[in-house]
Amino acid sequence: MIIDAHVHIFPSLKYTVSRYNNIRFSPQLDQKTIRDMWGRMKTNILDERYIPGLGEDVNFRIDNYGKFYWTKNGKECWMQRFPAILRNIEWPPEQMIASMDEIGVDKAIIQAGYMEMNFEYKYFKEINEKWPTRLFGTITIDYDIEKDRNYRQKQIDKLKKITTNISSIKGVYQAFPRGQKIDDKEFEPLWKELLNMKIPHIFYVGFQPKEKYLQSLKQIEKVLRKFPDLVGVIGHLGGNIRPKRNKNYSDGKELLKVLKLPNVYFEVGYVLAYENWKLWKENYQYPYPLHTEFIRMIYEEVGCKRFLWGSDMPNLYRTCTYQQCLDLVRLHFDFLDEEEKKLVLSGNALRVFRV
Ligand SMILES: [Zn+2]
Repeated sequence: MIIDAHVHIFPSLKYTVSRYNNIRFSPQLDQKTIRDMWGRMKTNILDERYIPGLGEDVNFRIDNYGKFYWTKNGKECWMQRFPAILRNIEWPPEQMIASMDEIGVDKAIIQAGYMEMNFEYKYFKEINEKWPTRLFGTITIDYDIEKDRNYRQKQIDKLKKITTNISSIKGVYQAFPRGQKIDDKEFEPLWKELLNMKIPHIFYVGFQPKEKYLQSLKQIEKVLRKFPDLVGVIGHLGGNIRPKRNKNYSDGKELLKVLKLPNVYFEVGYVLAYENWKLWKENYQYPYPLHTEFIRMIYEEVGCKRFLWGSDMPNLYRTCTYQQCLDLVRLHFDFLDEEEKKLVLSGNALRVFRV
């Protein structure tokens, strides 16, 4: 049995699917991701003066093969946001299943976040009905403590209704706007409800300045200490992997405090952190020696019982193939024995997501 704890499926994110409205958030949000992903994804320029400002008119465009384009300071700039194998940023469930079959993956957890949240859960529901034993969903809600209690209660009610009606929803992905103080007591109804429903919360951390990143890890730690039965998952290797000379560089040890808690899980296989040759040089190359070193460091402190293999398909194809990502664990993690590899590739995910 092999379970991929991190995949995505979406209808064309470039074009609205005719029977749905408001599938995407807005081009403004797409434009904002350029700043969030700067120094991570491939761009034709590394100089920060070319990052578009919030709401700045830079003639933002998306081509047919995953590239974002804009014009700033007289220069035509691009970022490879989605892999070029996706035409019009579409990754249908059939293609995800075919990819899983190709390399022998049995089940996958679809992480939420690319679509407007109400659209998204309806879309996942249709997928789950067609492939009830292969694909499992997660949902997101807008538990915003800057809005009133009544609004938040409605979000919790929606979460309860969806998870009750759609049995294949196995987790909640980033249930709150980033940057909010999640150890505030106003957040407790959310954590208690997740405990009640016995579903994990996947945190979207990192992809932000170091101070904010460290702050968010501290808050996650506080919450998961206070609610020891609440299960938290941290993906993207924490989200702030940067080369040493970058101002947001940290060595990964900042994650250990939270990962040492028994109710925290960590995704391995996120090699997209090392996708940019201009930044990483030889370390960008398969089998990603810095990724292995990083996971081994955590393994030595925490063990392997909290590792979940997650590919981030189809985005993974910005770096290597699906087969190669699986083989990272199977062939290249020589610090794990066979039983430990089984835990990373399925045993731990079975416990967390109960699929
Ligand atoms: Zn992802």
